[in-house]
This record gives sequence, C-alpha cells and structure tokens, in this order.
Amino acid sequence: MSVGKHQIYERRALGGLVAAICLLLQFQGCAEVPITHRKGLHLVPETELLNMSLQQYDEVLKKSKLSSDTHKVEMVRRTGNRIAKAAEGFLAESGQQDKIKNYKWKFNLVEDDKTVNAWVMPGGKAAVYTGILSYTQNEAGLAVVLGHEVAHALADHGNERMSEALIANMGGMALSVALTRQPQQTQQLFMTVYGAGANVGFLLPYSRLHESEADRIGLTLMARAGYDPREAIPFWERMSKQEGKSRPPEFLSTHPATETRIADIKKYIPEALPYYDKSKK
Ligand SMILES: [Zn+2]
Repeated sequence: MSVGKHQIYERRALGGLVAAICLLLQFQGCAEVPITHRKGLHLVPETELLNMSLQQYDEVLKKSKLSSDTHKVEMVRRTGNRIAKAAEGFLAESGQQDKIKNYKWKFNLVEDDKTVNAWVMPGGKAAVYTGILSYTQNEAGLAVVLGHEVAHALADHGNERMSEALIANMGGMALSVALTRQPQQTQQLFMTVYGAGANVGFLLPYSRLHESEADRIGLTLMARAGYDPREAIPFWERMSKQEGKSRPPEFLSTHPATETRIADIKKYIPEALPYYDKSKK
C-alpha cells in the first residue's frame, strides 16, 4: 500500500491539527506519552486493539516458520522477559498500574534470515526475526531492539498510528465497524501500523517522532532490565551498514538517519545510566 505526496501533506496537516486540539481542549481521545509527555491521539478503544492483536499474532505465527534453535529461542525469551519486567516496573512507577493487566507477554523467534526486523503488537505479543540477530550479536544488542519495540507499545504509538490510518484511509470509521465492513483492508492496516507486514511501503507521519521516543524510553527499559544502555551505540553503528540494502518493515524503513539517531541516543544515555547502575546493586 503506498500513498502519494498529496496524502502525506494532508496527514502532516492532520497531525498539526491533532496536536492543536489535544493542547487546547485536553481532548478525551488524547493521552500522554510517558517520559516525553507528548499528547497523542488515541481514538481506538484499548480492548479492540487487544482483541485484534490476539487474532493477528496467531495468524502471523501460523504463517511463519518458528526457529528450532533452542539456544537462540531461549535468549530471545530471557531478554524479552527481562525487558517485560522492566516495562511493568516502569508502568507501576509512573502511575499506570492499571495498564499492566493488558500485557500477556509472548516472545517468539521467527526463522527468516532475510528479515532484519522485530515488532511488538498490543498486549506484548512480540516477534523477532533471525535476520536481526547478526546485528544484535549479543544479548545487550537484542535488549536494544526489544527495549525499543516494547517502548513503542508502552507509548501507545500503535493506537496513534491506527487512529490516523482509520481517518486517512477509512473515513474515520471506528475500528470495529471497519473490521466488519472491510475486514481485509483493516487487517492490512493493522499489520502496517505495527510494522508486522511483509511489505510496508507506507509512510506515516510522526514516524521520526515515534522512533525517537521509542529510542529514549527503550534505553531506560534496557537499563532497568540490567543491560548497559551504551550498547545501543555499537548496535546502531552495525545497523547503519545495513542501510542501502533492502529495507524491511518497521526496523529500518521508518527509522531516521542513523547518524541523527546515534547523536540523539548519546544525549539520552545519561538519563538511562542511573537505572543500569541501580540494577547492578
Ligand atoms: Zn521503531
């Protein structure tokens, strides 16, 4: 699915309007992103996203070949569960205990060396593709990736993107209505929004903003989980060598230029380091 320049401009205008509405009216459908305190548009009820996530996750797993490398699978689950625990601690400390019950974490490793990707759907349903493991190289590298992806989930970026996608593509239809009327298109939108599609030629506004928020929150999550947040720098340096090759969903296509990203990460590391120090005590 691709969009023309015209639509992209329209979406930028929409983004500005949303920000203005959120700011001026403290609109009910807007929620605050933790740490950065930005207001985002959340029009889709949480329960609807959770239901859809359950269905789509099972669907993706059915169509994928799961890795039988027990060593790697265990590493993905161990790292994932440490990040998940850190995420729950983070939610509890930031007064969002009520959200913890929405997460029933699952971390699966998909056997696909060509796909350099990882994603987390609502409710903590995650997939890592074996293709990204040659860039993560070690557990701390994997913690950078999973911290980033879990941060997207904690910041509800998916709800924001889904709200915008429903406005831009389906006339602002409610998710439940869209699913009844145009199930296939709606499922495709969901997969695109969560970066879980096979081919995502789809530009969404805020993506740079979302990426930088996910980097910033992700660093504190990995640090809370006991991984050195400084490992994010060599990881992104290794990823920059992938640039220019084929660009898979979420993990590369929507990401900002690596130099900018690494410069920003260096700024956020001091914010995360105290959590890492605390985790070692
Ligand atoms: Zn991302």
